[in-house]
Amino acid sequence: KKQERNIRNIMRNRLPNKILDILETAGEMAAEIGTEAYVVGGFVRDVLLTKSNLDLDLVVESDGIAFAKKLAKRMDGRAKYHRKFKTAVVILPDGQRVDVATARLEYYEYPAALPTVELSSIKMDLYRRDFTINALAVHINPSSFGKLVDFFGSQRDLKDKTIRVLHALSFVEDPTRIMRAIRFEQRFDFKIGGQTLNLIKNALKLNLINKLSGYRLTHEMRIILNEANVLRSIERMNELGVLEAIHPLMELNSARSQVIAELERLMSWYSLLYLEPPLSVWKTYFLAMCMGVSKAKMEQIYDRFSFSPSERREFIHLRDAVFWAAGNIMNIKQEMKPSEIYETLSPVPLEGVLFIMARTKREMIKKYVSQYLTSLRLKTIDVTGEDLKDLGLEPGPLYSEFLNQVKLACLDGKLKGRDEQIQFLKDKIKKSEKTKGA
Ligand code: ATP
Repeated sequence: KKQERNIRNIMRNRLPNKILDILETAGEMAAEIGTEAYVVGGFVRDVLLTKSNLDLDLVVESDGIAFAKKLAKRMDGRAKYHRKFKTAVVILPDGQRVDVATARLEYYEYPAALPTVELSSIKMDLYRRDFTINALAVHINPSSFGKLVDFFGSQRDLKDKTIRVLHALSFVEDPTRIMRAIRFEQRFDFKIGGQTLNLIKNALKLNLINKLSGYRLTHEMRIILNEANVLRSIERMNELGVLEAIHPLMELNSARSQVIAELERLMSWYSLLYLEPPLSVWKTYFLAMCMGVSKAKMEQIYDRFSFSPSERREFIHLRDAVFWAAGNIMNIKQEMKPSEIYETLSPVPLEGVLFIMARTKREMIKKYVSQYLTSLRLKTIDVTGEDLKDLGLEPGPLYSEFLNQVKLACLDGKLKGRDEQIQFLKDKIKKSEKTKGA
């Protein structure tokens, strides 16, 4: 028995006008063409959960590409498309994206036994989705704008806060759904349903995680590590054996958990204070998840995630820089001068700096890192390469070396104002000329 519910008023109350406008325009167009159009997936879920989500996914029961082109024209946007997948995206003048997909019966051939009755194409489209909470659609044609399409008990599961797959072969079909289940569970503070949990356990017993390509694994992992509640998601992956299945060296231990918990605190501190530069949050957590793994063994992990040569180099550099700086800073006995803190931490990418701060238990070191992040690295000087040129220094590596020395001297309060900095540069140039002459 199908529940019929119209959420037109909820949508009017909760959605920004520009989103409503897009939906209404698309719905009117569908009616003109003589087809049915729906907004589907995470967007609908989030409307019902009163969470903001501006990712519009439309499904039309006709040629999605033609539909997208028409919508783009009507709304002064442009359309890009994938012929092969019959999908398109409309990009509106303000940058808003609208994905358009085609619901077509013959497109989805399912291994799972389906009843032989003909299903409407929107039903088929929803059936191929990951979880019931993501398998809702809202009709947007004017005659039934706001009508909720719920074939699989999605509303009930949203109410019961349950993550549930649509059929028993779901994880076999796509093992990334194991990680997606955990992500949604932790994000919304839901629970993976009992049956679904058993299906995950079975999928893990069948080593289905091994079948995941490095590319998709990396993609899912990055999304999880970019969400709030990172620790809980990682703990859940660990508890279910997902981390071990990815690589035995990635199993969680208490040292890693502690650092991840501390990183969560630092991340909110950092993002509250400094928006710039943006940080690859996931890399910082990934450092913590691989704590204690040797450089040689890390290669296996990079292999599993299929890091590209450049990603690999970047990550190796990050780990080396952290290792070097942490070694320096941990050995410090007496107080560090600002210039020393700067010299130690400035070669380390910010992801690594935060990791060092999370990892240390010494308050003194936390203070130094915090001083570096909030002040030292942001201090500017009053001289530039132009000044060196004016002073007659030949362009070369001495430029950055001298400017760096000005910065270090300024950090320790040894140079005040531009005049003193110019004088400092003059002396440096003189000295370098002397040594060259000698
Ligand atoms: P988020 O809020 O994280 O963006 P979302 O639900 O919008 O979550 P997307 O990854 O953008 O997630 O996917 C959009 C929709 O496509 C989902 O709501 C779901 O219906 C469907 N979907 C995405 N990935 C899968 C998958 N691996 N298997 C089945 N359906 C999927």
